[in-house]
Amino acid sequence: MTRGLTLALIITVGGLSMAVAASQAPPAAPSAAALAATTIEKVKDNLYIITGANPVPRETFAGGHTGVFITDTGVVVVDTKLAGWGQALLDRIRTVTDKPVTTIINTHTHGDHTGSNEFFGASVDSVVHENTKANMARMDAFKGDKAQFLPKRTYKDRLTLGSGRDQIDLYYFGRGHTDGDTFIVYTALRTMQAGDMFPWKDAPFIDRTNGGSGREWPQTLKKVLDNVKNVDTVIGGHQPVAGWKDLARFQQFTAELYTQTAAAHKAGKTVDQAAAETTWMSRYPGYEATRLKAAVQAIYDELDGK
Ligand SMILES: [Zn+2]
Repeated sequence: MTRGLTLALIITVGGLSMAVAASQAPPAAPSAAALAATTIEKVKDNLYIITGANPVPRETFAGGHTGVFITDTGVVVVDTKLAGWGQALLDRIRTVTDKPVTTIINTHTHGDHTGSNEFFGASVDSVVHENTKANMARMDAFKGDKAQFLPKRTYKDRLTLGSGRDQIDLYYFGRGHTDGDTFIVYTALRTMQAGDMFPWKDAPFIDRTNGGSGREWPQTLKKVLDNVKNVDTVIGGHQPVAGWKDLARFQQFTAELYTQTAAAHKAGKTVDQAAAETTWMSRYPGYEATRLKAAVQAIYDELDGK
C-alpha cells in the first residue's frame, strides 16, 4: 500500500492513528462497545440501514452506513463497513429476514465501506462503478488471492437491477469524494443512498489519491439534483437519514467551499489563513468546521496541479 493510500484510510476514519484494513493480518473483531452502537433501523418498508455512525470516537466506529434492501429473491447489501464486521452485519440482517445475501454494492472504494465484502464470499453478485473497481484493485485487501473478492460487475453511467418494487437504479455523475461514487436509488421507496458524497454536516473528505475533486464535487451533486427524480429520503455515509433538501443544502455548501477557497488561493492566502476564514459558514447552521482545513488543503493542491 502506498503512503498516499494509507494516509487516505487514516483520514477516512477521522484522522485517528489506525490504518484499518491496511495489513494482511486478519481483521480485529469489533469491540463490544462498537457492536452495541451498531443497530439495524428501518428506513422504509423493506429497506433498513445498519448504522455506522461517525468515525469518532473510534472505539465505536464500524464504518459507513450499510443499506439492507430485502427483495423477493434475496438481500442486497450496500456497503460492508470495516474489515471484521461481516458476521455482525449478517447477525443484524438475520433479525429482519432469513433470505440469503445475493448482491453487494459498494458506493466507493474506501475500507470503511468495502472492508467486509470478503465475508460474503466470492460467489455473491457484486457491483460497483468501473473506476471504483480499479481503485479497489489497488487495495491490499483485494490483491493476490483476495482478487477473487473484487466486484464481479461494473457499470459506466447508469445500471438498473431488478424490477417493480425491487428495482434499484445505480447512477454515476462524476468526481467528488473519489472518481467512482455511486448513487443508489431504491425507486419504489423514493429513497437514495449517497455514500460519502453526502457524508456529514462538515467539509467533506476529498480523496485525491482515489480521483476525488473539490472543484467537481458540487457539479456532480448538481447533476444528482437535476437528474434524479422522485426521491424524498437520502441515506448519507455517516450521518442521520436526511431529506432531499438537506442534500441540496450540502450541494450549496460544497459549491461555496470551493469558490471561497479558490478566491483565497487567488488572493495569495495560505491554507491556514483560508481555513480560518469561516464567516461564510454561518450561512450553514448546524455545520461544523472540524474538517475544513483538510478540505482547503486538498482544493489548494488541486488548484496547484499537485
Ligand atoms: Zn469514503
